[in-house]
Amino acid sequence: MISDKEKILSEPVQYIKSVGPKRAEAFKKIGISTVRDLLFYFPSRHLDRTTTLSASKAYGYLMNGYEGELTIIAKVADKEKRFFSRKSLLKVQLRDSTGFFECIWFQGIKYFESVFNEGDIFAVSGKPALSKFGNLQFTHPDFDRISEEESNSFLNTGKIIPFYRIPKELRTTNIGDLSLRRIINHAVEDYADYLEETLPAEIISKNNLLQLTEAVKNFHFPSSKETLRHAIERFKFEELFYLEMLVALRKHNYKSQLAGHSMKVQTNLILDFLKILPFDLTKAQLKVLSEIRKDMEDPSPMNRLLQGDVGSGKTIVALIAMLIAVDNGFQAVMMVPTEILADQQAKNISGLLKKLSMVNNERKIKLSLLIGEQKKSVKEKNLQDIELKEADIIIGTHALFEEKVKFKNLGLVVVDEQHRFGVAQRASLMVKGVTPDVIVMSATPIPRTLSMTVYGDLDLSIIEEMPKNRKPVKTLLRGDSKLPDIFKFIIDKKKDGYQSFIVYPLVEESEKLELKAAESHYNELKETFLQDVSLGLIHGRMSWQEKEEAMMLFLAKKYDVLISTTVIEVGIDIPDANIILINDAHRFGLSQLHQLRGRVGRSEKQAYCILVTKDEFAGRQEKLQLEYLSPAQLEKYKASVRLQSMVKYTDGFKIAEMDLKLRGPGNIFGTQQSGFPELRHANITEDVNILLKAKEEAFNIVENDPHLKEQPNQVIRKNLIEHYSGSLRYAKIA
Ligand code: ADP
Ligand code: MG
Repeated sequence: MISDKEKILSEPVQYIKSVGPKRAEAFKKIGISTVRDLLFYFPSRHLDRTTTLSASKAYGYLMNGYEGELTIIAKVADKEKRFFSRKSLLKVQLRDSTGFFECIWFQGIKYFESVFNEGDIFAVSGKPALSKFGNLQFTHPDFDRISEEESNSFLNTGKIIPFYRIPKELRTTNIGDLSLRRIINHAVEDYADYLEETLPAEIISKNNLLQLTEAVKNFHFPSSKETLRHAIERFKFEELFYLEMLVALRKHNYKSQLAGHSMKVQTNLILDFLKILPFDLTKAQLKVLSEIRKDMEDPSPMNRLLQGDVGSGKTIVALIAMLIAVDNGFQAVMMVPTEILADQQAKNISGLLKKLSMVNNERKIKLSLLIGEQKKSVKEKNLQDIELKEADIIIGTHALFEEKVKFKNLGLVVVDEQHRFGVAQRASLMVKGVTPDVIVMSATPIPRTLSMTVYGDLDLSIIEEMPKNRKPVKTLLRGDSKLPDIFKFIIDKKKDGYQSFIVYPLVEESEKLELKAAESHYNELKETFLQDVSLGLIHGRMSWQEKEEAMMLFLAKKYDVLISTTVIEVGIDIPDANIILINDAHRFGLSQLHQLRGRVGRSEKQAYCILVTKDEFAGRQEKLQLEYLSPAQLEKYKASVRLQSMVKYTDGFKIAEMDLKLRGPGNIFGTQQSGFPELRHANITEDVNILLKAKEEAFNIVENDPHLKEQPNQVIRKNLIEHYSGSLRYAKIA
């Protein structure tokens, strides 16, 4: 049922004053077809008096050594073009009541000449410098045109001016700063009052938020800086509130599935298993195990994130949980991201199970490995085992998602290195059983804000302690020219029983080239620096059997050194590999480097991670203060920041923090993959306080009215269906 108000707001933009068919067409190209769309096309920034300077003040700043950006509002007084033998130049002089300054352009001269006309007023922003005649000068600055009237009320009454991004689609129909502001002004004046509120009244008053209409009006044309802040806050709150609604509903949806299992420690199986382990579990491992046990006993399904740094011993914890499931007569499956990892886990686990069967033969536990590249006959047999419940524990890769895989009675799903899988993939495995318990594992520590959002539907268990006797990996940064010495080091350490990984990055997004690079390095090293040690090679283009064989030979110490591409990145566990040399380290992402480093340091011996990069990178000693980097520095020194962070920090939490700063939350934790909407206004790392409030409200509502049936919640229900339908897949409301 569409209300009259909504009908009005769905009118085409063409109904707005000064928008004809041509402009309407241009708006459509950038995704604005209705009046409503335009009302929600918000300014990218605002100009207010506290952020501008007069020409003479700006000059004073500059003379006093100020080096940052600044904005001046002034009128075009003169322009001239000059031609030199090779290049030409456009110089525009602008004046305000206190003085003058210049802007110069070397490129696009024709265009800028047409933009700057005598008498027009502009807000010019950039980092000025002194010209050789001592004038204040901007080179290729940002600028926005404003009208005489706007400039007067700006200067006299402190009116705030909005600036909008103007994509080229709009520019070609002659929409510029002035005209777009005018069009949006018409839209706001004629239509904003028809907007229907999208938050419950009680939430608005309790959290002191602006009403939607007021917020829209003040986001575009704020009456003061304070109301602008208030308006933006309302949109941040709204966005985070709906995000948390989705989280809360998703969690509720999972927990309220009736068909969960209650699984208890039944026999001596687990005690016997602990006896055959070659080590004692750490306190942290015991703690998370007891959390998992409690969840498994509870009949409502477990949905838990097990987090622990690389090497903290997550596998054993997962295996014990799997044994509890088996002990209760269920199947348990572990899903891992790569075939070699699947193979390795299967071998480890079957080794442990063999030992277990020697002390406890009441129950024979059968393990099955399912990966994409298996021979057809083997696979058929495995599939049959799984369906007939010949197999109790199943380890597999993406192949587990295939339709053909039918579990007899799946009780527990473990997802290793979960960041490699999207929420959709995880969900598809869950529907294969009768809502099995789920443990997802990740080495990436999750900042609080993300554990409340992207992972907010999961309960969290953290292994915050490493097994005893582990020494932190020594990390060194070296230039290419040091490679001969590093190879000597590798050869030298062989006598202490050290094995080494030598990793090369993907040079191009092409597997063929990857193969070539790894192979040619392998051939070269074999003939030269590393002729006296035995070398193995592994890369993504090898067949599954070849990869498996290479790993086996390395594990059996038939190779001293394994040359590889990033196929070894996650999970691989070779206790005697204590050196990892990473070539072209500046090409890797930070979390990837941390994962690679995690391949070593898995025994009591001192391990080394040697990052090799271009000499000028390694040598450049702009010692960065990693704790206090400005956004500009982060951007400028990205690669150095990554490398220096690796040298300085071994703690995965610190690494993740830096990575979050460098890449933004979306990229790291796959918000795109998470099935949650993109955020336009809020920033989950910065707006923590708003997030906390929004979360509390949303979870309260879902707890009291999970199906959103009550009257005050109708507005939420309606808004979810209208604007968040894509994200509702994992969070049913009816
Ligand atoms: P991750 O958490 O990175 O998956 P793994 O589960 O692969 O780590 O464990 C790393 C190594 O530590 C393995 O060789 C494992 O056998 C060993 N390990 C696990 N728990 C302990 C422990 N409590 N004491 C000593 N070694 C352990
Ligand atoms: Mg692991």
